Amino acid sequence: MSIIDLRSDTVTQPTSQMREAMLRAKTGDDVYGEDPTVNRLERELASRLGLAAGLFVPSGTMSNLLGLMAHCERGDEYIVGQQAHTYKYEGGGAAVLGSIQPQPIEMEADGSLDLARVEAAIKPDNFHFARTRLLALENTMQGKVLPLDYLAAARAFTHARRLQLHLDGARLFNAVVKLGCDVQDITRHFDSVSVCLSKGLGTPVGSVLCGSEAFIARARRLRKMVGGGMRQAGILAAAGLYALEHHVERLVEDHRLAQRIAAGLAELGYAVEPVQTNMVYVDVGDRAPALEAFCARRDIRLTPAPRLRLVTHLDVRPEHVQPILDSFAAFAQAHPAGAVE
Ligand SMILES: *Cc1c(COP(=O)(O)O)cnc(C)c1O
Repeated sequence: MSIIDLRSDTVTQPTSQMREAMLRAKTGDDVYGEDPTVNRLERELASRLGLAAGLFVPSGTMSNLLGLMAHCERGDEYIVGQQAHTYKYEGGGAAVLGSIQPQPIEMEADGSLDLARVEAAIKPDNFHFARTRLLALENTMQGKVLPLDYLAAARAFTHARRLQLHLDGARLFNAVVKLGCDVQDITRHFDSVSVCLSKGLGTPVGSVLCGSEAFIARARRLRKMVGGGMRQAGILAAAGLYALEHHVERLVEDHRLAQRIAAGLAELGYAVEPVQTNMVYVDVGDRAPALEAFCARRDIRLTPAPRLRLVTHLDVRPEHVQPILDSFAAFAQAHPAGAVE
C-alpha cells in the first residue's frame, strides 16, 4: 500500500489530468506579459474574487511578502497574529526585505484577532513610532474559518482607522466550501488577498496575489526585484486553472475525511479539537516522537508535535481512514497516555 502522508496538504502529487492540462498549456515569456495561460489565471482568479487584478507567483510566502511590501513603506508596521504565517513562518521576510515592522498580537480561540487588542496596538501619528499601515488576517487559520460577521467588523474597523486589510487566504477555498458561501462574501472585505494553489487545490507550484490595478502593478515590480519573475510559467498556471475548475468543490471530501478521522480518534480516547475543515489537531503530549516513529513503520507520515496536526488532501482517500485509526489504536495500546516511558 502507498504511503499516507498527513503532514500537510502541500504533499499532493499532480493528478494525471492536471499533468495533461500542463502539457497542453500555451506559453510565452511572462516577464514580458506574454504568457497567455498566466494572464488567464491572473484574470480568472481576480475576477472570481471580485478584485481588479492578479499576480502569479511561485509561492504563498512570496505572495504575502509582495502584498505586505506593496501596502507598506520602510518604517511602516503591520498588525498580525502571533501564530500567523505572515509573521511566524516566512523567515521574517517583511522585516528583512521590506523594512516593515511586524506588531504581532495573540489570536483568539476562533483564529480571529480581537479588534480591541488591534486598536490598542495601533501607534499614534508621532515620530517616535512606526506608522501602523495594515492589518493582516489569515483564513482558514489553523483549519478554522473566520466568521463572516467578524470580517465585516474588521473591514469597518480598518476603514475607520485608514488601515489596509490583507488576507492570507492560503486556504481561502476551504473556508468558502465550509461556509457554503460565495468566495466574494469573504474577499469583498479585503484590499488584497493571497491564495495558494499548491495546498488543498493540489497544484505543484504557485500562488496568486489579488488586489487593485495599482497595488498589483507595485507587486509586479517587487516580484521582479525579489527574483520571482518567471518566463514560460503558463505550464504552471495551467495547473492552477485546472485546479480552480476541478479541485474546489471536492474540498468537502477532505473536510469529511478529517471529520471521520477526528471522530475515530476521539472514540479511541485521544483528545481531539473540533474540526472545521481539513485539519485535525490532537493533543498527544510528549508521546509525539514515539507516535511518529510508530506510524512511520506503518507507512503513515506525521510531523511530530505535542499538538499534532493531521491534514487531509487529494491524496488521502476514504480507504486510508481505517489504517490510520488502526495505527493510532495500536499505538494507544502500546503507549497509554500518562504512562511513564
Ligand atoms: C503554506 C502557507 C503559506 C505559504 O505558502 P508557500 O507556498 O509554502 O510559501 C502562507 N500562508 C499560509 C496560511 C500557509 O499555510
